[in-house]
Amino acid sequence: MSSAPSAVLTEDHRELVEAFESFIRRELVPLAAELPETADLPPADLRAYVRRRSAALGFYAGDYPEELGGSGMPFTAVVLLHHAAGRSGCSLAPYALAGSDGPSPLLRHGTPEQIEKYLVPLVRGESARCLALTEPQAGSDAFRLTTTAVRDGEGWVISGRKTFVSNADRADLALVVTATDLGEGPTGGATAFAIPMDTPGLRIGQRYDGMSGEPMFELLLERVRVPMAAVIGGEAGVGAAMALAMDSLSRGRLVVAAMCDGVAEYALRLGVEYAREREAFGERIGAYQHVQEHLVRSRAEVEAAKLLTLACARLVDEGTEAPENAALAKLTSSETAVRVVDRALQVHGATGWVRGHPLEFLYRYVRMMTIIEGTSEVQKVIIARAMGLG
Ligand SMILES: Cc1cc2nc3c(=O)[nH]c(=O)nc-3n(C[C@H](O)[C@H](O)[C@H](O)COP(=O)(O)OP(=O)(O)OC[C@H]3O[C@@H](n4cnc5c(N)ncnc54)[C@H](O)[C@@H]3O)c2cc1C
Repeated sequence: MSSAPSAVLTEDHRELVEAFESFIRRELVPLAAELPETADLPPADLRAYVRRRSAALGFYAGDYPEELGGSGMPFTAVVLLHHAAGRSGCSLAPYALAGSDGPSPLLRHGTPEQIEKYLVPLVRGESARCLALTEPQAGSDAFRLTTTAVRDGEGWVISGRKTFVSNADRADLALVVTATDLGEGPTGGATAFAIPMDTPGLRIGQRYDGMSGEPMFELLLERVRVPMAAVIGGEAGVGAAMALAMDSLSRGRLVVAAMCDGVAEYALRLGVEYAREREAFGERIGAYQHVQEHLVRSRAEVEAAKLLTLACARLVDEGTEAPENAALAKLTSSETAVRVVDRALQVHGATGWVRGHPLEFLYRYVRMMTIIEGTSEVQKVIIARAMGLG
């Protein structure tokens, strides 16, 4: 067992994590080595292969029950796998675990038909989806939606514009969250729909290229006609999207926190290795206290962030899914990762700034982490409310 304090919370799932690390080393690292050094994003067919292969081995979407194609592992184990993926430094490892294109907890509230038709193939890694929630005027204020579903006989007609949708170009299915109009104007409650991407009237608009290569897209809905069966949860899901989404928010944030902890640990390892070797003024740079400050402070922050994430994941397994816990972990881990990657790059000097160096990529990649799954400021709002403020 490692002597790091966080090891007390990782021991339970050591064999699983070692098996996943072995899969990364044996199968993913050789595949990643064939990619061009400056390619930020692996090709879509390779990502799909990694997803399916990991699902076959039982890692992908591991917390879903076996009858849905998962492995029924505890949430803490999933968090540890995400941490291991980030820590590996392998560019393909994150695609071996369910992320923003994988099974959505929203679909766990689906009707039996929706679970069979959409959730099971997603859990098995056989299909991919996107989530269309954000709109040009509704980001953090996510439920101020203007995209509206109007009840029309037995079905719905949906019109509007979504933005910053990840994975839209390779998704089979869009989960679209809309305002609800039962025929007499918007009701206030949002509704989530499962809509196949080839549905007439649904199309991809503008493409936005993100800092680390991952594109996002506009999703345009022009009188998209869908049946009642497209409402996630059926009739009970009408106007209930917010309630359905609540229990998935904490888990999504903890998974992001775990990935951030892993990335920070990897960046720190690169920084320490470099500081032990690189010489300046006749000394290893690691002997200089200014360099040690970058690395020692990072070590303390990474360990603290990891402990917080793991403790919150364990509370989820014990049935205590407090939103402020996930907010604390996501805020701490994402901001720690941004700082630690920045410091590790500083320790590398120009070497780390060169295109193709792992830290050059991580510096751009990690910056999204304080924005996705609720910005840092939104996490602070949640924590402040839980503290009885505001
Ligand atoms: C890489 C990436 C992938 C994404 N993928 C998807 C996706 O697949 N599907 C999807 O629907 N969306 C996606 N998004 C959009 C994402 O959910 C939003 O960017 C996010 O919710 C923030 O909204 P916004 O960008 O409109 O910022 P805004 O909400 O306009 O916020 C701007 C600034 O104001 C701050 N702010 C806002 N409200 C408050 C407040 N009450 N108190 C204090 N500060 C506040 C914010 O924290 C931020 O700093 C993605 C974004 C990124 C970067």
